[in-house]
Amino acid sequence: MDSSDDEGEEYLFKVVIIGDSAVGKSNLLSRYSKNEFNMHSKSTIGVEFQTQTMEIDGKEVKAQIWDTAGQERFRAVTSAYYRGAVGALIVYDISRSTTFDSVTRWLEELKTHSDTTVVRMLVGNKCDLGNIRAVSVEDGKKLAENEGLFFMETSALDSTNVKTAFELVIKEIYNNVS
Ligand code: GDP
Ligand code: MG
Repeated sequence: MDSSDDEGEEYLFKVVIIGDSAVGKSNLLSRYSKNEFNMHSKSTIGVEFQTQTMEIDGKEVKAQIWDTAGQERFRAVTSAYYRGAVGALIVYDISRSTTFDSVTRWLEELKTHSDTTVVRMLVGNKCDLGNIRAVSVEDGKKLAENEGLFFMETSALDSTNVKTAFELVIKEIYNNVS
C-alpha cells in the first residue's frame, strides 16, 4: 500500500479543562503543551486553547485543548466553551476538599452543554502537596468509579502524570472514533 493513501486523514479533537478556580487547570495545560509551570499564574479573561500533536497508530492526532482562562470565577463558562468537545478533564485540588465537592456540579454542567459522548477524566491535581492532602486517593477513585470517569492524580508542579493524563484521554477519543 502506498503511504500516500493515508494522506488527508486528519484527526482534531477538542478537549476542555474544567474545575474550580486555582486547582491548576492553566498550569496543567502549560506543563503539557510547553513544559512550563508558573507559581504565580494570573488568569486572563477570554477563552484560550493550545494545540498538541501526538502520533497514534502512525497517524497524526491533534488535540485542541481549551482552558477557561479564569471565567469560572464569574460562573461564566459559556456554552461556546463546551461546544464540540469530545474530551474533558475535570480537575480538583487534592489539598482543598471544596474543589472536590464541586466536581459533581462541573459534571452536570458538562452534561448540559455537551451533545456527544465525551471522554471524561477526573484529575486530582497538586499531588505533590501530600503533606496537606484533604482528599484521599480512595475518595477520588470512588467518585470516578461511580460516575464512570477515568481517574488520575497529577502534579503540574513536578510533572507527575500530566502527559499520561492528557494522552490517555486523547487515545481513548481516538479509539472511539477510529
Ligand atoms: P487555575 O485557576 O485552575 O487555572 O489554576 P492555576 O493553573 O492558575 O494555578 C493556581 C495556583 O496553583 C498557582 O499558584 C499555581 O502555581 C498552583 N499550582 C498549579 N498546579 C499545581 C501543582 O500541581 N502543585 C502545586 N503545589 N501548585 C500548583
Ligand atoms: Mg486558569
